[in-house]
Amino acid sequence: MSRFLDSRFAALDAYTPGEQPLDKKYIKLNTNESPYPPAPGVIEAINSDEVADLRLYSDPATRALTAAIAEHFGVERDMVYTGNGSDDILNFTFMAFCGANKGAAFPEISYGFYEVYGQLYNIDCKKVPLKADFTIDPADYYGLGRTIVMANPNAPTGIALTKEQIVGILENNPDDVVLIDEAYVDFGGESCVSLVKDYKNLIVAQTFSKSRSLAGARLGFAIADAELIADLNKIKYSTNPYCINRLTSLAGIASIRDTEYFEANCKKIIATRDYTVTELDKRGFETLPSSANFIFTRKAGVSGTLLYEQLKAKGILVRHFKKEAIEPFLRVTIGTPEEMQAFISVIDEILKEV
Ligand code: PMP
Repeated sequence: MSRFLDSRFAALDAYTPGEQPLDKKYIKLNTNESPYPPAPGVIEAINSDEVADLRLYSDPATRALTAAIAEHFGVERDMVYTGNGSDDILNFTFMAFCGANKGAAFPEISYGFYEVYGQLYNIDCKKVPLKADFTIDPADYYGLGRTIVMANPNAPTGIALTKEQIVGILENNPDDVVLIDEAYVDFGGESCVSLVKDYKNLIVAQTFSKSRSLAGARLGFAIADAELIADLNKIKYSTNPYCINRLTSLAGIASIRDTEYFEANCKKIIATRDYTVTELDKRGFETLPSSANFIFTRKAGVSGTLLYEQLKAKGILVRHFKKEAIEPFLRVTIGTPEEMQAFISVIDEILKEV
């Protein structure tokens, strides 16, 4: 820390992203990326003419992309916000809808960035414990008088609430913003996009990073009542209006139009998830019921740190969190069937050694 950093940030504990190693080639199951390439139309859309046009600024209103997303979901264009990854949308939600008079609430075990945004903006955050089985009790979020941020499916557990359970949270917080972070919804969760017309306090955030194989393009979007979208745009136009670059916009349009490719990939990943869980079951692992493109799994009597380190030494990267309550768990992204077979073989090697 330099002597110039404002004291507000002295104690800020920044988010630690999953490793993106350069030292050797790993089977990378640590950051919930898709193992499949983006839709074929994405590769065609980013041609040399478009690269030449990078001399021009991007459209700050991302009109073509916004129209494509609105059409896909059957909502009005003014109900769609586009951001530089859904992290941007989460950031702006904490910035815009929390503050000195409005705290936030989110699950104690969830996406680690929520806590970082809370700290960044000095927001009073209520971290609601999960139940012993790592599920969320929606009633814990009724009438808190806070902005609610909820990943559904939750991360890193992979466990999803039903749409009905989210309705319970919305009905019991009519005067507060409820953001449902649907980063992983396409792998078996129930989306709340259809609720946006009825609940003026609901923001649904989604991303192109997982089910649409565009993590490196940085594209997320929110669907909400037009007034909430206008608030998010106010923040965008007060920070970085050009936060979606020209190539990412084109990639997003091509991706959202190719429903067949998208659905086929989600289906493959779900089937590979089922295979992986079955194989881990046979080896005595306990895996939480996942509706995501990752699983959260542990083996009684074996430390998570040890498994993580041994897997890494043998060329497989997974995510391990230092938090005490989840120390035994590994979060394992679902890769291709071949990658998951390799993962299981390495697990067998490790189990023989420990
Ligand atoms: N929400 C959750 C729950 C996530 O796990 C992630 C990915 N790390 C994000 C949001 C952010 O994804 P992105 O910024 O790539 O859209």
